[in-house]
Parts: sequence; C-alpha cells; structure tokens
Amino acid sequence: MATRDPVADLRRIAFLLERANEATYRVRAFRSAAATVAATSPDELAARVEAGTLAKLPGIGDVTARCVAESLAGEEPVYLRRLAATEGADLPAAAAALRSALRGDCHVHSDWSDGGSPIEEVALAAADLGHEYFVLTDHSPRLTVARGLTADRLRRQLDHVAMVNEALPEGFRILTGIEVDILDDGSLDQEEELLARLDVVVGSVHSRLRDDAARMTRRMVAAIGNPHLDILGHMTGRKVAAAGEGDAAHRRARTRPPSEFDLEKVLAACLDHGKAIEINSRPDRLDPPKRMLTVAVEAGCVFSIDTDAHAPGQLDWLDFGCERAALCGVPAGRVVNTWTAERLLEWTGSHG
Ligand SMILES: [Zn+2]
Ligand SMILES: [Zn+2]
Repeated sequence: MATRDPVADLRRIAFLLERANEATYRVRAFRSAAATVAATSPDELAARVEAGTLAKLPGIGDVTARCVAESLAGEEPVYLRRLAATEGADLPAAAAALRSALRGDCHVHSDWSDGGSPIEEVALAAADLGHEYFVLTDHSPRLTVARGLTADRLRRQLDHVAMVNEALPEGFRILTGIEVDILDDGSLDQEEELLARLDVVVGSVHSRLRDDAARMTRRMVAAIGNPHLDILGHMTGRKVAAAGEGDAAHRRARTRPPSEFDLEKVLAACLDHGKAIEINSRPDRLDPPKRMLTVAVEAGCVFSIDTDAHAPGQLDWLDFGCERAALCGVPAGRVVNTWTAERLLEWTGSHG
C-alpha cells in the first residue's frame, strides 16, 4: 500500500491556512507537527500509529496526529481535502501570464521580526512555489512593535542567511534585504554601512501617516533619493478591509485611508533615481490603489510585485498583485522581480 509523506501534507495544510490569512497561532500547530514528524524515524511513527500514541510526541496534538495517521495510511488527510476544496478560482489570463513571469518576491518577513516562521521554512515554501529567489526584508530598529532588527541583529541575520543559502537546493537563493523605516525627515532607519551591504532595500513609511501632503512628499522624495533605497514599499500606507478577517464591523475598524502626498513629484523622483514602486499584494493593503498605479504605469515607472508575506502560505498572494498589475496594464518587462537574481542585483547596484 502506498503511503503519503505526512510532513509534506502537514506543511501543505499550514500553507493553505496561511494563504487564507488565518492567525499564526492556528497555523503553528501544523508547522510544529511537521518538524516533529520530520525528526522521527518511520519505524517509530508506524509503531505509534499502531499503538495510538502519536499525540504523545511533543508538538503533535489530536488533530495533527489524525492527519499523520491518514497520510501514513495512504489517504489524503480529511483536513487537507477540506482546505484544498476551497482553493481560489483561476486567475484571468493576463494576470496569470504576469504571475508565471515572476521569478521571486522582494518583500518577505521571517520570525526574526514580526513574521510567523523561521527563514528556513519560508525558503522551503518559496522554492516549492517555483521561486528562484526571495528577498528577506525584516523590519528596522525603530519599528519596535514588529521586533525591528538592530544593526547587531541584522549582522547576525546576514551570517545566518549565508549559512542557510549553503544548504538550499541548486537554483534557489535567499537575497539579503530589509524593510527599512523611512524616518520623519526622509532618512533611513539603519546604519549606512549595512544598507550598502544588503542586496535589496525596501523603504516604507510606517509612522505619521496623517502628515500633511507637503511634509509627506518631502519625506518620500528624500528617501527615494537615498542611493540605498531600491523599492518604495506600500506607498500610501492604506489598509483596506480584507475578506475573511472577522465580521464586517471588525474589518471596517481596521481600515486606514491612504496618506496624502504629491503623486507626480513622488513618481518623478522614482523615475529620476531609477527606483521601483512596490505593488503590495497583501489583501489588507493592495497598495497603491488602481488609479495611482495607472498613473505610475503611464509615467514609465518600474515596479516590484511583492507579497509582504509574514508567513510561508502568504507567499502565494502574488496572484492578487498580478491581478491588479494586469488590470492597470503593467508590462512584465517593467517588473523587477520578473528579472533573474543577477539582473536584479545589477539594477540595485546601479544606484547604490
Ligand atoms: Zn511595511
Ligand atoms: Zn513588510
């Protein structure tokens, strides 16, 4: 009788839950169980299924034990079958073409800041999705609520990434990076020397989002002019009501209007300095709004379609960004993450 791989099944469940924007703690049970099963010998697993003692292993509960037992019996776990049945509909053709042209993702978080999973788990999921690379962009020190990395922690992360990269499958790599806060005066919240070392720098505004347009424009234009910044992250800072997150009132309470700034000046700065505008795919951001994205396309800007993933399953949110990009006529050639890692690095090196 053919058995299935219980580790792969548990990871797939976690991935689908994350993609559906489930809370991290609900997903963690499946990722911890996968780690435990991966570290347990097949003989011991089989013996424990027989004896009904799988749930006695650390990190495995009744639900995950049932999944493992079903997998080992060669059946698709019921939990997985139910999730897979609710998978989204197919992308429209233009969006699907753009999606298949993407080689990576330039905005991804790990549990070093406010993401839910270790770098290794994120990397496995990205490689499974067919990515050639992703840029690890944990937060900068000022964003303490998101456990932003101090210069020292970022240095340690760089060593860690170098080690993880050694063990990754051929043809896939993690690029180093940061989502650096754009401070009130437009400077960037990390040491100059470190920013210069990183492969890709995404710069985002996370504070004083309600400043007046003149001040916000000055701040953004100054940051875009900084030679280390490569990609302007979620440019308006808006939050929209994402489906599937609590009831309607709860979702409305979490929305936030876009910041006000002079769009023409900001786009002109991006063009002058050869910087990319992020198309943020998070269902609760979808930033920039379509009317602004259309203006940016007409202005000749380049883009990066990113997930801003905080969990491995959210790496699949690229579909949402591609859908908007296709609607607004973004050409694939002007999307920096359709480029190979080499070309991407040439581009970031050209202004850094
Ligand atoms: Zn951000
Ligand atoms: Zn982010």
